[in-house]
Formats: sequence, C-alpha cells, structure tokens
Amino acid sequence: QKTDIGLIGLAVMGENLALNMADKGWHVSVYNRTVPGVEEGVVERFTNGRAKGKTIEGYTEIPDFVESISTPRKIMMMVRAGNAVDELMEQLFPYLSPGDILIDGGNSNYEDTNRRVALAEQKGFRFVGAGVSGGEEGALNGASIMPGGSVTAWDEVKPILQSIAARAADGTPCCDWIGPAGSGHFVKMIHNGIEYGDMQLIAEAYWVMKNLLQLDNEEMASVFAHWNEGKLRSYLIEITANILRHKDKAGGYLIDKILDTAGQKGTGKWSVINAMELGMPLGLIATAVFERSLSAQKNLREAASKQFACQRSQVLYNKPELVKDIYSALYASKLVSYAQGFAVLQKASETYGWDLDLASIARMWRGGCIIRSVFLNDIAAAFEASQKPKHLLLAPYFREEIKELLSGWKHLVAHAMKEELPVPAFSSALNYFYSLVSAKLPANMIQAQRDYFGAHTFERTDELRGQFFHENWTGHGGDTKSGTYNV
Ligand code: NDP
Repeated sequence: QKTDIGLIGLAVMGENLALNMADKGWHVSVYNRTVPGVEEGVVERFTNGRAKGKTIEGYTEIPDFVESISTPRKIMMMVRAGNAVDELMEQLFPYLSPGDILIDGGNSNYEDTNRRVALAEQKGFRFVGAGVSGGEEGALNGASIMPGGSVTAWDEVKPILQSIAARAADGTPCCDWIGPAGSGHFVKMIHNGIEYGDMQLIAEAYWVMKNLLQLDNEEMASVFAHWNEGKLRSYLIEITANILRHKDKAGGYLIDKILDTAGQKGTGKWSVINAMELGMPLGLIATAVFERSLSAQKNLREAASKQFACQRSQVLYNKPELVKDIYSALYASKLVSYAQGFAVLQKASETYGWDLDLASIARMWRGGCIIRSVFLNDIAAAFEASQKPKHLLLAPYFREEIKELLSGWKHLVAHAMKEELPVPAFSSALNYFYSLVSAKLPANMIQAQRDYFGAHTFERTDELRGQFFHENWTGHGGDTKSGTYNV
C-alpha cells in the first residue's frame, strides 16, 4: 500500500513534522540524503528510534522513496534553505509523474519560490512554498503554516497541512491558502520580521523597568505575567515572564548571565530589504534588526561606554505609573509595527497581484507561531470590517486604542531620552506615528534640495498635483530636468 505523503529532510523540523503527520493518521514516507562521513544512518536512526511503531517508512534512495508514495504525490521538503532545495528538485524531477506536488516547508526566500513554482509547473508538476513557524514544538504539536504557489495543489495538500497545523482558540486551523507564487514564503518572512520587532519591544520594556525602576527579576516577571492576562496576551510575553524567573544551576538568575549580543539568521533583514524595494516604511522592524547588529558590536560598545558615561538622574519614579507608561509604549509600538507589516503585505499583494486576504493571514498567526497573540483577533476583525481601513491605525478600534495609549507612550519615550536610556523601537514607532498623522512634513525641503542639486523637479502647493516644475535656483544652472523616477 502506498503512503499518503513523502517527507525529505530529517533534521529537527522534518522529524517532528513526520511524527505529527503520523499522529494525525497519515502514512508517511521519509527520506534523508546519506552522505558518507557526514550523517550516516539518519533514516535508520529515526525509523528505529522516535518513529518506531508509527506509520512512517524510511527510504535511503530517491527512486524507492518516490515510488512508495500514492499519486498525485505530495512530497514535503524540510531541508536547509537555498541550493539544497534546487538540488533536491533536480534529483526528484526524473521520478515524478505529471501533477505531483512538491512542498517546500523551509525558510526559503520568496523570490526563489517564485522561480521554483514556475519551473515545476513548466515541467507539468506543482509546487507549494509553505512558510512554517513554531519551531520544534510547533512542528510536533501544531505549527502555523502559510502555503502558496500552484493553486490547484491546495485542495490536495489541505487535509494534511491543516491536520498538522495548530488550532486557534476558536478551533480554526492556523493554515490556509495564501496566494500564488512565492506569497506563502513572503508572508512567513514578514511574520519573522514582526517577530524581530516584538522581541525588541519586549526587551526595551524590560530594560526600562530594570534601569529606571530598579525592579528585580521576580517583580518584572510578575509585570509580564500580569500583562499576559490582558490585551498583550501572547507567547512572547509569556516566555519573557518565564525567562525572568528562570534560575541558573550555578545560582542566581540565568538572564543576568547571558551576554547581551543577539544573533540573527536573515529573515528580519529580508523583510526590511523587501519593504524598501516596495517603497514602504518598515522602520520598527528595521530598528529591531539594526539593534541586533549594534548589540553584536559588544567590544565597540564597551569602549564607547568608557568615553561617554551616560548620566542617570536620581529621580524616584512612581512605580505603578511608570509601569503603566511602559505598557502604553509597548502596546502602541506593537500596533505601529503590525500596521507597518500589514501595509507591506498589502503593497506586495497589489504589486505582485497576489490578492492576499489580510484578515485570514492575521487569523493564521493566532496559533502555533512565535508571534501568536490574542491581539491578532482584533487585527483580523479590523480587516474584515465592511469599511476596509486605509491603514490599520485608522481602523476605529485601533484609533481609539492609540488615543488612550498616546499620553503614556510619549511620556515614557521622553523620560527614557532624558535619562539617556535607549528605547530605539519605542521612539521609532512614536516618530512614525507623529509623521503619519502630520498632513505636512518637511519633505518640501528635501525635494527643493533634490531640485537644487539634481534638477529632480517638484510639485507645487499652488498648482494641480502631477505637474512637475524645475527652478533655476542659482541663476546660472540650465533648465534641463532630470528624468522623474520614484523609488
Ligand atoms: P536545517 O536547516 O539544519 O537543515 C538540515 C536538513 O537539510 C538535513 O536533513 C540535511 O541533510 C538537509 N540538507 C542540507 N543540505 C542538503 C542538500 N544539499 N540536499 C539534501 N538535503 C540537504 O534543519 P531544520 O530542521 O532546522 O530546518 C529545516 C528547514 O525548516 C530550514 O529551511 C529551516 O530554515 C526551516 N525552519 C526551521 C525552524 C527551526 O526552528 N529549526 C523553524 C521553521 C522553519 P543531512 O542530514 O544530510 O545534512
């Protein structure tokens, strides 16, 4: 009897996804390459170990593996993103039948997925690029899965992918069709960017509590645990409370012994690069990415700190009041970050013709993934409203929330700045908000400068929009304009 699905790549994600599929009643063929001297016996180790007694069959040769799966075949690849996926596709193609479906569940770049969908379809196969979030635990017990690509594949992969996905509190699977081409991986990339932003915001909240209020780890854990009961309820807030309470085996709290340098693997950076390509502001996530880069320059920061000792006042802040302000800054900045992220998704959808359903994406992120939170319900509701908001912050519910939060948010940023304490993401969000709500900005000066030195032309406030003028600013320049282009 042939199996229901094949899975390639038995590292942490692949193993756990295979077990998850088998637990949901699917019969799974698994394959991992065998490179002499690298990781021999990966397949045997799995089938004789965690997969023993389950509906999982191991294969070490591609032809046997492909042959074991019922047609049209569904083959999910959980391998290192990049060349590995292309190499595997080339190895698989000769053995596939028309209509077979390849699913790439790795963290692939969406442009690679665009290319792979076209390549597979050109050969008569189908290709699904599925972003998977939730790490090892999600892979085993329910992840958030964002599939996109060959649309006719959806009906066939849906029962399997939805069965292994997490469920939101209302029971809906955190997996639904995203759109054509690389849209699933694009949405996963923005998910990861938002994750960078959320983590930076939480880190700033922690830092203000620690440095301006001198709260100890237990007190801070209680604040986060309390926030986790309300509108900020989310996985990242929950684990922050747990991290703060966690004791080191050698005594004391582990968090105080962890070096303050944060790593990154690139999805935050990709989000920012792609937002820039689309001409969309994604300042909060950019700040989060750059702060990780600056955190990694530990030696430089240590040297600089000796030359510019920051002055902190001896002001005794009112604890409940400042904690409330930190809450306001965290919540409002988070709103800005999601508003920016969803605006990038909207723009990508229009630019690439993906027809993304933003409410559905918000719902998919409610469970399984790292940014899961109750707040995503409110985002989904805002995008579902009959009057679609131009921008998330203009949706009536969020508009009222921001109005309530603004006072605490701006006070917190002002206090932190006076105290020479960095809150780059809180302040980036606040500056974005002030710019967003400014009908006028000083960009007239920028455009004047561009025209002065580069004849880039400008529109006038006293003429109809869409007409471009050039001024001979110095009296000795010519009247030739530069070609108009917008980025
Ligand atoms: P890795 O990213 O470490 O990938 C290792 C797997 O890829 C191994 O099975 C390895 O085989 C295989 N592989 C590497 N190069 C090749 C190649 N050229 N041909 C065939 N197979 C190859 O494993 P993870 O389980 O961590 O991640 C799998 C994918 O899922 C990645 O794209 C990752 O970014 C993504 N992901 C990971 C998450 C996580 O929390 N770890 C979360 C969400 C997504 P071998 O054993 O022979 O080396």
